[in-house]
Amino acid sequence: MNAPERPLSVATRKPTRSIPADLRPAFDDYVRQHCRSFLIAINLFAAAAFLSYAAVDAVVIPDMAMTSLLVRVVLIAIGLCHICLLFRFGRSVLLMDLLLPLHTLISTATWFELLKHSQSPDVPTFLYASLAFIVLCNMGARVTFAGTLACSLAISTVILANVMQLHPDDPRAVLVFVLVYLPVLCLSLFISWTGTLNVRQAFLADVEVRRQQAELFTLNQCLEELAATDALTCVGNRRAFDQRLAESWAMMQAHGRGFALLLVDIDYFKAFNDHFGHQAGDQCLQEVARSMVDTLRHGQAQTFRYGGEEFAILLQVSDAEELQHISERVVSQVAELDITHPHRPDALGRLTISVGVALSHDHGVHNPEDLVARCDRLLYRAKQQGRNRMCLSEPVEA
Ligand code: GH3
Ligand code: MG
Ligand code: MG
Repeated sequence: MNAPERPLSVATRKPTRSIPADLRPAFDDYVRQHCRSFLIAINLFAAAAFLSYAAVDAVVIPDMAMTSLLVRVVLIAIGLCHICLLFRFGRSVLLMDLLLPLHTLISTATWFELLKHSQSPDVPTFLYASLAFIVLCNMGARVTFAGTLACSLAISTVILANVMQLHPDDPRAVLVFVLVYLPVLCLSLFISWTGTLNVRQAFLADVEVRRQQAELFTLNQCLEELAATDALTCVGNRRAFDQRLAESWAMMQAHGRGFALLLVDIDYFKAFNDHFGHQAGDQCLQEVARSMVDTLRHGQAQTFRYGGEEFAILLQVSDAEELQHISERVVSQVAELDITHPHRPDALGRLTISVGVALSHDHGVHNPEDLVARCDRLLYRAKQQGRNRMCLSEPVEA
């Protein structure tokens, strides 16, 4: 027999740096759950830093101090609106991730305009402050390295174009700037790449853990089912019966909902086995169990193999008349299977059962053991009275 095919685990999938398409929605949820706080914090931090640099502008390019403050306040106001709208109402993980790089791109271009309009002799030195922009851009993203890289290249283009514009006749100064700039760009890009990779790997590990948990849960359910099922007849086994009886009793005590117990015993089964063999006996046990399950299918009943050729039925019924009706049907349905049993001492000639029936709220029944003992006595009485019948406990006395 072929083993059932199991879904490919994330760990056994072909190693990939990108998220498989089928996991994309789950990945977006993961990012919203795990990275949203970081992204909000870094956006707010960047906004605060951008505003605080107005003080530096006031010192280094004092002729542009007021303009710088005004521009920064306007940009921050717009930026804060974006942050609020996107993180409050937006669903796009890509936009959340790239908001800071995009804001940084705009801020970079704007700041260089301020520098170009300043007459301060410190402008050439101050150009190096633009390194802060590229660092912020690359540190802010969590999800898409490709997007960050694109923004990074755009910001680098803006920076280098403006630096060249501000040093039109000084290629040496531009070269020094580039030599300082490039390592910072590469290092921050590398950190950005490892950061986004870590998030993807953490997500894939999370998916794998969840898959294993689900598999374990299913296996546990199968095991529990196996541990509670009788291998021959496929009804509940003795262990399940003991557990269910205790639960039904507890439910009755908690909610006052009574129930009934039927103890079923196949009549003259030893003689059946002796003459037809144990394999035929086993088949007979299966047929009897199936008949009882079918008869009780529409009621709230559970059938168990109590042991040997005996079965127990727990029935959610508290009315003695209805119970009698159901029990008689269980007995008659087994007889109607018409399984030949020619060697029984009486003249019936076919296989039958006897049943002892009692209710949880019967007089003198104080616990589950009392109920089983009561059923056992009634079963014995049914046997005494000629078998192929059920014997119900006396009605409750007022
Ligand atoms: P009574 O009507 O008084 O219940 O008579 P009985 O012969 O059914 O009762 P007894 O307890 O003497 O015999 C029960 C028989 O059930 C003995 C055994 O051969 C048979 N039996 C018990 N478990 C199994 C089983 O798993 N498979 C088979 N084939 N037979 C079983
Ligand atoms: Mg028996
Ligand atoms: Mg028997």
